[in-house]
Amino acid sequence: MNWFNVILGMLLLLQVQGCVEVPITHRKGLHLVPETELLSMSLQQYDDVLKKSKLSTDTRNVEMVRRTGNRIAKAAEAFLAETGQQDKIKNYKWQFNLIQDDKTVNAWVMPGGKAAVYTGILPYTQNETGLAVVLGHEVGHALADHGNERMSEALIANMGGMALSVAFSRQPQQTQQLFMTVYGVGANVGFLLPYSRLHESEADRIGLTLMARAGYDPREAIPFWERMSKQEGASRPPEFLSTHPAPETRIADIKKYIPEALPYYDKSKK
Ligand SMILES: [Zn+2]
Repeated sequence: MNWFNVILGMLLLLQVQGCVEVPITHRKGLHLVPETELLSMSLQQYDDVLKKSKLSTDTRNVEMVRRTGNRIAKAAEAFLAETGQQDKIKNYKWQFNLIQDDKTVNAWVMPGGKAAVYTGILPYTQNETGLAVVLGHEVGHALADHGNERMSEALIANMGGMALSVAFSRQPQQTQQLFMTVYGVGANVGFLLPYSRLHESEADRIGLTLMARAGYDPREAIPFWERMSKQEGASRPPEFLSTHPAPETRIADIKKYIPEALPYYDKSKK
């Protein structure tokens, strides 16, 4: 037996043991990092980001971000409860903040439901429904545990498969940067791991259902992504820069998923 086989065997074992099903799409994702480790790291990093950022003082927009975020969060909780998956977010304490930074077209959700929107995305969202597209998408990544999947892969690829807590105690800076990259945090991440097309598409699909359940018209996702795709030449931050999926593919996929979300929107209006 050579080392390659040993490593391959270990990876397969990890995959078998560390797989968790993604809501709605039912794909099995790699899930090696204990939730508690991600949560404690998240609380620390979230505080840190908020301390280092300038929070918006525009009361109207701040309230819009909180209201939309909480409606999406409630929809997520109701959805998971209906499908018996409420444990997924049982330790979440949702928080939605608006960071004053007009150059950053970004938004993200860390584990535990710690979310931020940058003012730079507001010209694209234009209104509350547009914001619901963004937050639905971000909460979609969170429900699908994409962060854990990316963190697991990054720990294998960059840190020789170290546990997160060990990596953090040995190489705090590198681990912190990895965490930020994995969750698409901030405007200047040193090295980029763009979300894969699969993750983007899953987050879009879950996001449409969440926004519809929260009472926002999911069809508005199409003009939102059209506006985003016209953002040529602007420096795009981690989460919303990704060249994949290509905008046309993304919009075509969204059109395909809208019929799945629309009945929830109709029901929400009754
Ligand atoms: Zn995304």
